[in-house]
Amino acid sequence: MNHFPVFLALEGRRVLVAGGGDAAIAKLRLLLKTTARLTVVAEDPAPEIQSWAAEGRLALIPRAQEPGDALCCVIAYAAHEDAAKDAVSLRLSAADGALVNVVDDLANSQFITPAIVDRDPVTIAIGTEGAAPVLARKIKAELEERLPARLGLLARVGKGFRKMAEALPMGAARRRFWAAYYDHAGPRAADQGEEAVGEALASLLAEHLQADERPGHVDLVGAGPGDPELLTLKARKALHEADVVIHDRLVPPAILELARREATIIEAGKTGFGPSMAQADIDALIVEHGLNGAHVVRLKGGDPAVFGRLDEEIEALDRAGLSWAVIPGITAASASVAAIGQSLTKRGRNGAVRFLTGHDVKGFADQDWRALARPGEVAAIYMGKRAARWMQGRLMMHGAAPETPVTVVENASRPEQRIVAATLATLPDALNGVDGPALLLHGLAPRAAQAALADREIAL
Ligand code: SAH
Repeated sequence: MNHFPVFLALEGRRVLVAGGGDAAIAKLRLLLKTTARLTVVAEDPAPEIQSWAAEGRLALIPRAQEPGDALCCVIAYAAHEDAAKDAVSLRLSAADGALVNVVDDLANSQFITPAIVDRDPVTIAIGTEGAAPVLARKIKAELEERLPARLGLLARVGKGFRKMAEALPMGAARRRFWAAYYDHAGPRAADQGEEAVGEALASLLAEHLQADERPGHVDLVGAGPGDPELLTLKARKALHEADVVIHDRLVPPAILELARREATIIEAGKTGFGPSMAQADIDALIVEHGLNGAHVVRLKGGDPAVFGRLDEEIEALDRAGLSWAVIPGITAASASVAAIGQSLTKRGRNGAVRFLTGHDVKGFADQDWRALARPGEVAAIYMGKRAARWMQGRLMMHGAAPETPVTVVENASRPEQRIVAATLATLPDALNGVDGPALLLHGLAPRAAQAALADREIAL
């Protein structure tokens, strides 16, 4: 991020616009919505600017910019649409101590003006660091459509209640109140006008003040295989509402960024053989935050019900008397077969599929090798890298053909995704250099290159 977004307090501060044509007018339209004291310096100001000056909405200096014109200005715009004049303006305004924006000149600008969705006092600023103005406009148009015009009304009325809402305990209880207002009570009353919104807010507050202090709640959420777009809508909603997010190491930063900004994010890491936090400590951590009244999201890679120690956590929550819900996610097996264009089950090939773990708490995990060694069997092997050579031995001992296909999918669904097509015979070698989380698909080869390519294009 080269440009850090801030909302600048402009009340009573000076802002200078140098230039009198279309570019200046466009900036002034925006600036006139603010409480800043505007000055325009222009040799040949357009009639629109002159009439704003006549109405007293800005001060007009009808000449070329001179040293001192931008004194005490927080920001200044060079808006001549003329590179030479803008260069002079940039030099003069900067010398006067203002931050300068040269219109349509990212390289020479010290700040840039974002695309703005205005639902005063709710203001949404969209920036692409100059990379894609068209995209910014598209996002703006979408937001304009999605955000009802009455949002401003809700925010204004809400602002008047902030002090009163302090009667609610800070944190989760207060947040629940505001969420209920903005999600339900406010929009319902908004059609009947400002007064109705105020009344709805007052009775909602009374209701919340009476309600018993609600204990916390824990959502056990599947984060999917890593691509944020593979999160469920429920998972996103839970992340938006969470007070505390306790996640495992499989969850990438791009997904954690979707959590509410004020949420406390805690990594409770577990890796196959590396240093990890004991499950009992993780259980205790979740319970502790739940008992504190927090909305906890226990965020796990893939699906929490697949090799996710889900039952232990649920038992701990039950023992503590906390409410909980499971929000399923897309498991690594689903993402991995998607990556190679295959099905987990297929008519005439396999009517069953196994989800295996390469190792469990006791070490390499024993399985029904004889059954798995039969032709046509398919298994998704989780945590199988270390155990690969051992599993290879077991399977061959029970009669599996060395040429049985085994596909390694590393980092399924992530930008670093890698697919290694191997056979049972070549599997241990195929795993050389596979460092990320990887799933072994026993009995499946990637669909032929041509078809896989087509699938990919569709997927993209
Ligand atoms: N609950 C998770 C599995 C946890 S066990 C799920 O449903 O996916 C951890 C193992 O999952 C890893 O060792 C790896 O085998 C597999 N895994 C998780 N995410 C993966 C990904 N993006 N790509 C490939 N394998 C993955």
